[in-house]
Amino acid sequence: MMKAPKIEKLIQANDFIRRAYNLAKSQHEGQKRNTNEPYFNHVLATAEFIAEWELDQTSIAAALLHDVVEDTNYPLEKIKSEFSEEVAFIVDGVTKLGKIKYRGVERQVENLRKMILALSQDIRVIIVKLADRLHNMRTLNAVPPQKQKRIALETMEIYAPLAYRLGMQKISGELEDLAFPYIYPKEYCWLIEHTKEKYGEREKYIEKVKPLVIEALQKSGVGLISVDSRAKRYSSLYKKLLRYDMDIDKIYDLVAVRIVVKTIADCYAALGAIHNLWPPLPNRIKDYIALPKPNGYRSIHTTVFCADNKITEIQIRTQEMHDEAETGIAAHWLYEQTKGTKIYNEKKSALSDKKELDWVQQLRNWQKEFSNPEEFMESLKIDFFKDRIFAITPKGEVIDLPAGATPIDFAYQIHTEIGNSCTGARINGKIKPLDHPLRSGDIIEIITQKNKKPSEDWLEFVKTSGAKNHIRAALKTKNTQLDKREPKTTELKIIVEDRVGLLKDISVIIARSHVNMTSVNTVTNAKFPILRIRCDITNKDKIEKLILKLKKLKEIKEISYQLI
Ligand code: MN
Repeated sequence: MMKAPKIEKLIQANDFIRRAYNLAKSQHEGQKRNTNEPYFNHVLATAEFIAEWELDQTSIAAALLHDVVEDTNYPLEKIKSEFSEEVAFIVDGVTKLGKIKYRGVERQVENLRKMILALSQDIRVIIVKLADRLHNMRTLNAVPPQKQKRIALETMEIYAPLAYRLGMQKISGELEDLAFPYIYPKEYCWLIEHTKEKYGEREKYIEKVKPLVIEALQKSGVGLISVDSRAKRYSSLYKKLLRYDMDIDKIYDLVAVRIVVKTIADCYAALGAIHNLWPPLPNRIKDYIALPKPNGYRSIHTTVFCADNKITEIQIRTQEMHDEAETGIAAHWLYEQTKGTKIYNEKKSALSDKKELDWVQQLRNWQKEFSNPEEFMESLKIDFFKDRIFAITPKGEVIDLPAGATPIDFAYQIHTEIGNSCTGARINGKIKPLDHPLRSGDIIEIITQKNKKPSEDWLEFVKTSGAKNHIRAALKTKNTQLDKREPKTTELKIIVEDRVGLLKDISVIIARSHVNMTSVNTVTNAKFPILRIRCDITNKDKIEKLILKLKKLKEIKEISYQLI
């Protein structure tokens, strides 16, 4: 049996969590993980993370039950009635997120992250999903090799950045570190080989420096809580090495000194005391307290010529800042790292900045609002994507569209030609009308036909201006083509004095000339009836010969023709 001290304590005290625990245990009875452990260990580990991150009992129960609907026969409806609508909502959300797969298409990354948020609706869905992913990554070596790389890549590209943006830096870093060896096995081996000793060396060195730091801070009366060392993660070291010619000696924060103090004033006092002891490197002081990182990260970093003249990074923060950086959800959605990249520029217009800021503000106030349960619940809702939807192609590509968009908008978003030749749409496997409003998570298959042209009616219901413009452009060429088209039919206009059997005699003459009649119209309200007969010939000689033959009928008063 695995250890889950937080959950074990909670099941003693909390009936709701105990019921979820017992249900999950009995439902997963007999199921095994790839590691050959009981399956229940996985949901227990997931719930233990949620408890460590100090989420509410709803989230903990949902974490315990997160695989019950997908992997056992227990219905969602029963979770709703036995626990609560919210627990069911989170379980359902996590199950849905499990169906979204990242397959390595670079330009989808940003849309996929957005879709995950849009589908989640409640921030707790993502957090339970992150806990689930964290445990899956810790046990990834038991998974078949062909699946390992896909899951690792998805973790690196989707879940680690999501955790980062939610301010959960520690989880984000751990996810990246766990994924790294599966994505870059050679680079990982190189890194271990070339840096292991250095890490050991630096750690020993920091141990030597620590008492000097403590002494200096105490002398200056700084409210000190702790001095520790922080080893840089492999994945982030690797990224940094790429920028520094793979020269490990240029990395000053391989192992950093981390000082935790009582107040913000203590942070600045500590900085002064450190600089008094060791001179700082110019331009290396970063005050993320005055200017927090976009995801909410706060700390002061400085790099100094430390003992034995070794260049060393020192980080200073309060306990609150420290806790926030570990698991806090003080995130800014649009993190710096995407700025200036193609994805960011292309997709920026799809987002409303104002709403993002509101959301971030809500998250920042997350813990403070705990005293007001209603507002707290409100702050968990993600609604800044409520006017966007994210639909998927059968190949898993995510298409970002405005709310109310139809299969036609979707088709044009993929490619103009696919829009122009669209004849039908299958939504989640079922044929639907072309004006059917799409929903987030819908899988859309567009049915096309060669040489098909758009219909004017589409203009009535499409939502995107892109689709409208393409339809108009295609209709224009369609009409001009109609005008320039080769005539295929001749219309004979014959004014007659009517008699019984005349039409029959006319048709016999036409048939003997080996000409097909395609239609006959009679206008009888004039003094003499007018016949309009269409034939499938365009050859002028042939037409005139036919007319001569027809003129032999004495009832025909007048005859003319035109090509159409
Ligand atoms: Mn799971």
